[in-house]
Amino acid sequence: MYDAIVVGARCAGSPVAMLLARRGHRVLLVDKVTQPSDTVSTHYIQQYGLRKLKEWDLLDTLAGTGVTPMRRMTISYRDSLIEGFADPLDGIDVTYAPRRTVLDPILLEAADAAGAEVRQGHAVRELIVEDGRVAGVQGADGTRDRASVVIGADGSGSLVARQAGAEIYRSLPAESFVYYSYWSGLDIHFHSRIGVDQQVGAWPTGDGGTLIAIMKPLSRWDEFRSDVEGNFLQVVKDVVPDIAEQIAGGGERTEPFHGIRYPDNYYRRSHGPGWALVGDAGYHKDPITGQGISDAFVHAELLADRLHEGLAGERPMAEALADYERERDERTLSAFKFAATIGALKLPPELEAVFNALGREPEYARDFFNLIAGAITGERFFAPENVARMIGAAK
Ligand SMILES: Cc1cc2nc3c(=O)[nH]c(=O)nc-3n(C[C@H](O)[C@H](O)[C@H](O)COP(=O)(O)OP(=O)(O)OC[C@H]3O[C@@H](n4cnc5c(N)ncnc54)[C@H](O)[C@@H]3O)c2cc1C
Repeated sequence: MYDAIVVGARCAGSPVAMLLARRGHRVLLVDKVTQPSDTVSTHYIQQYGLRKLKEWDLLDTLAGTGVTPMRRMTISYRDSLIEGFADPLDGIDVTYAPRRTVLDPILLEAADAAGAEVRQGHAVRELIVEDGRVAGVQGADGTRDRASVVIGADGSGSLVARQAGAEIYRSLPAESFVYYSYWSGLDIHFHSRIGVDQQVGAWPTGDGGTLIAIMKPLSRWDEFRSDVEGNFLQVVKDVVPDIAEQIAGGGERTEPFHGIRYPDNYYRRSHGPGWALVGDAGYHKDPITGQGISDAFVHAELLADRLHEGLAGERPMAEALADYERERDERTLSAFKFAATIGALKLPPELEAVFNALGREPEYARDFFNLIAGAITGERFFAPENVARMIGAAK
């Protein structure tokens, strides 16, 4: 009998398992894959995500892997462009985009080192439900394991969510799709640029590699796929011509293209008797703002804190988990809406006016970089009086 079984061992699951194990709880962490294992992600980590790795004593390990430090960003919407970087956040003056084959094993090994029992290559097939509460999991190999609480950290297609009956209570439609791959021989700092109905994101990963991603509206999916390479390079040329020139001048693509239609943006009910959800299993938004990994870290810690209160008998588990979900939602709602809005690749007039203001006023641009870094909340940045101030300055 475990205190907790965590299903899914990546950005959300491994930290929950690590933090619970560090507090002395008996934890089983399972994943159907075995690390190192890649997954669909462009893997950019914001400063507020790196702050969690620092607090958990994992940042130096990550920095020592050959991952490329980034200290400069170019962000634009159509003709409005800003360059710069956020202020240091708790001493962190850098961002990284480690490959998931680098990041996820570090997280898994940290859970293992903290004392969690780790089972890789172990798919969960169903939840064990007794007297209306989740009591454990059954593996595809028939193994049955029991726990006080089962945590679904099993991504957007979460089996735990489905079988626990976790309903979606807030959603916004996905508007775009992404294609990306990796190149060698390029010298590129962070770019996120939205042109007319298309976006290019590009940043260094590590060991000389550069990721380039393009996004387009879902309605262009079939047309795009008729010639992925040609259309991809055309988008890069239209939106960031200097990157297209570097590719033409000797950049070499080192992997096949990865393409995905985004699922809708959603919040799912994330707790119930004997179960909880964390990471993409409970909350997913358009990846354009690059916050999924950092949010998974923050919410893993939030959940582990509340679970500890319940497991230690400090307060009723149901009450603690309700607080977890409420806090998560309160802290993320504005970022959720922002991601869904810019994911449409066409800004509403007021937001376009804000972007224009960023291009003209360095103070606002710095606030925006700090917003992305996690130092300023969306509630503060997008407060009506702040928006009015910025738009006024742009006129
Ligand atoms: C195209 C794309 C680009 C993105 N780019 C970024 C970015 O630049 N920056 C960023 O911060 N975020 C980005 N994201 C989002 C980010 O990847 C996710 O938010 C993050 O991976 C969520 O982590 P997770 O641990 O919740 O789930 P996942 O990473 O999805 O991991 C879930 C794990 O659960 C396991 N699992 C599932 N079912 C079972 C089962 N039945 N039994 C056992 N194991 C199971 C899976 O094998 C998997 O390892 C992007 C997402 C996409 C799709």
